[in-house]
Amino acid sequence: LKTLLQIQDLHTYFYLRKGISKVVNGLQLSVREGELLGVVGESGSGKTVTAMSVVNRVRMPGKVVKGKVIYQGQDLLKLSEEELRKYRGKEIGLIAANARGNLNPLVKVGNQIANVYLAHNKVNKKEAWEKAVEMLRMVGMNDALRRAEAYPHEMSGGMAQRVMIALALVNSPNLLIADDATNGLDVTVQSQIMDLILDIVNKQGASGILITHDLGVVAQCCSEIAIMYCGQIVEKGPVTAFFDEPKHPYSRNLLNSLPERRITQERIELKGSLSSPLSLPTGCVYQTRCPYVMDVCRKVEPSMLHVDDNYNVKCHLYQEKTENRGSANEKLA
Ligand code: SF4
Repeated sequence: LKTLLQIQDLHTYFYLRKGISKVVNGLQLSVREGELLGVVGESGSGKTVTAMSVVNRVRMPGKVVKGKVIYQGQDLLKLSEEELRKYRGKEIGLIAANARGNLNPLVKVGNQIANVYLAHNKVNKKEAWEKAVEMLRMVGMNDALRRAEAYPHEMSGGMAQRVMIALALVNSPNLLIADDATNGLDVTVQSQIMDLILDIVNKQGASGILITHDLGVVAQCCSEIAIMYCGQIVEKGPVTAFFDEPKHPYSRNLLNSLPERRITQERIELKGSLSSPLSLPTGCVYQTRCPYVMDVCRKVEPSMLHVDDNYNVKCHLYQEKTENRGSANEKLA
């Protein structure tokens, strides 16, 4: 499969009064065509800022300070705002967390969708409006015509989320990024929204990044998983291999923290806290919680190692390829 998106050594910092908060800190990640990748991490691990960095929508006091986001050969971070608009909403659709906060409160939702469609297609306003109504129907809204005339504050959280999905999908993007798309919704609506996203991704043959703190969603929906910790990806591989044998000590801790390894609908809650992005330690970011910490972990940041077919881990217990894998697993047992 061809690589569609490649994020290389991404650093996004927030310049605060109390110091520099390194929210995304050397992140590496790639998504292949047709792949549905789940990015999992605790609150505060940098998931949302990563999504915003990919579409270059980080605003002051935040700033992407280093790295590349290569989409189909083009580094998106090098594009002007105008050039980037051709990608956003057309090639790349973003379903942001907090739908209501991301919709324009003063514009009817039908017009918001129609405007995104108009910006990228040679159609008139009437055709764009009809497309908006069609999209609202597609995302499962009853009485779509009446809903299109509504303002965001007249909608429930679930409905506003559906509007966000319609907005993200109206131009049939190649890559859909869903950032905690079901957060704050009740369980029934959550599963309806997830089914909807999956259905649309599958029908359109698109690639997707599902950003979540729910391992169950990833186990059910995704082909690949990436584990995020303190602004870095620490493990990435196929979902089945990950749940059979997670490799990074943090991933093992995550799975072991779930009762009887029951993953459905469980959220991440680990003992101890993440290192503050204001004062990350030298070396491995997981050293403060890791039971296997060694001297080298406090001095040298581990590289992202290719340890198996399509499988990467960022930890000193491993070595490139499969050499020494046995000994790493013994240490982790
Ligand atoms: Fe633990 Fe060291 Fe691996 Fe970090 S590099 S996860 S501290 S063993």
